[in-house]
Amino acid sequence: MDFTLTEEQEAIRENVARLCSGFDDQFWLETDRTGNFPFEFHSAMAADGWLGITMPEEYGGAGLGVTEAAIMMHEVAKSSGGMSAASAIHINIFGPHPIVVFGNDEQKNRWLPPLIKGEVKTCFGVTEPNAGLNTTALETRAEKTANGDYLVNGRKIWTTTGQEADKIMLLARTTPKEKCKKVTDGLSLFYTDLNRDFVDVRIIDKMGRKAVDSNEVFIDNLPVPKEDLIGEEGKGFHYILHSLNPERVLVGMEGIGLGMNALQRAAKYAREREVFGRPIGKNQAIQHPLAENWMELEAAYLMAMKAAANYDAGLESGVYANAAKWLGGEAGFKACTQAVMTHGGMGYAKEFVVERLMREVMICRIAPVSPQLVLCYVAEKALGMPKSY
Ligand SMILES: Cc1cc2nc3c(=O)[nH]c(=O)nc-3n(C[C@H](O)[C@H](O)[C@H](O)COP(=O)(O)OP(=O)(O)OC[C@H]3O[C@@H](n4cnc5c(N)ncnc54)[C@H](O)[C@@H]3O)c2cc1C
Repeated sequence: MDFTLTEEQEAIRENVARLCSGFDDQFWLETDRTGNFPFEFHSAMAADGWLGITMPEEYGGAGLGVTEAAIMMHEVAKSSGGMSAASAIHINIFGPHPIVVFGNDEQKNRWLPPLIKGEVKTCFGVTEPNAGLNTTALETRAEKTANGDYLVNGRKIWTTTGQEADKIMLLARTTPKEKCKKVTDGLSLFYTDLNRDFVDVRIIDKMGRKAVDSNEVFIDNLPVPKEDLIGEEGKGFHYILHSLNPERVLVGMEGIGLGMNALQRAAKYAREREVFGRPIGKNQAIQHPLAENWMELEAAYLMAMKAAANYDAGLESGVYANAAKWLGGEAGFKACTQAVMTHGGMGYAKEFVVERLMREVMICRIAPVSPQLVLCYVAEKALGMPKSY
């Protein structure tokens, strides 16, 4: 077993870190204040080819795995950009994965190059107001018209980057649940234009990551050509798992990156800040929680790498991906909270950044699956206990 990064992986880490260092605390403080999307950062990542890291080389991608994407997203989240930077590109990395795995050549040719070049942005429409964690309860319908195309009606919520997106990866029901053998049947996956003539995208005012919008999406009679259906009708739930498992690994890694980001700031502050005539970092009550945070983050990192390696090798990855997402989110949250506390009053000041990271890391706990549901899944799949949800 080899825990060291390969030469190529080390080069990814270094190059991504170098690119991210061009966007400093001040840049991200400003985007967090204004809510402006970080177009400069998105373009810089696209220009250096990072948006296509997991996409096939024949379409302009790098043809690498979720492992390399995880290394990259860890580095992005560890930089000043934190979750604001990670979320600005995150959807590009995992969202289109079903196209890579199940799309036909014509679709890959049509859709992947503009995504890789950063010319087209997409969003991910799964969650609905009445179907959160229970994805199979989703109510958005895609009805087949006489010529085989579809007409979509429904409502999505929390759709990230809906304000900027040109496209949407859309999960909709094509066969009513009552007519399906299994509740996971009858859902279909489309990648189509987010045509604003038929779609109203309304921003949600939220706790953190103001630079990257989340939205309510109202879809009224959106025409979707049959050419925009991915794979076979009714198999969308199965296809979307090829987004969901990689996404869990990446969100876990982002939580770890945010935690490391906050931890480095806390350790620096603890070394420099003097109270009672000595650095606060000389007190074990300050040191020990930070040391615990470091160990938890490192352990979560190993789980995320295992989950990524399993996915890339085509082995069972669901339970590890969920575990990585849980461990990364929880360890990241604890580290960010501890970093705020280590800074004392200054932890509450925006200038010291840790309060922003603490607000942002909540996303890694809540989305794309809650900590409770991860525990339900692990109890069932890893321990053979009865399904509880
Ligand atoms: C910032 C942000 C960005 C997001 N971006 C996107 C996006 O781009 N695209 C997208 O599709 N979605 C997105 N989401 C949605 C996200 O994936 C959902 O919020 C998440 O899946 C939880 O769903 P819900 O909010 O409907 O919670 P609910 O399903 O309403 O659950 C509410 C609470 O009840 C608990 N609960 C429910 N059932 C059980 C049970 N059986 N046992 C124990 N506890 C239970 C849950 O754990 C949770 O704590 C985003 C969310 C956020 C906050």
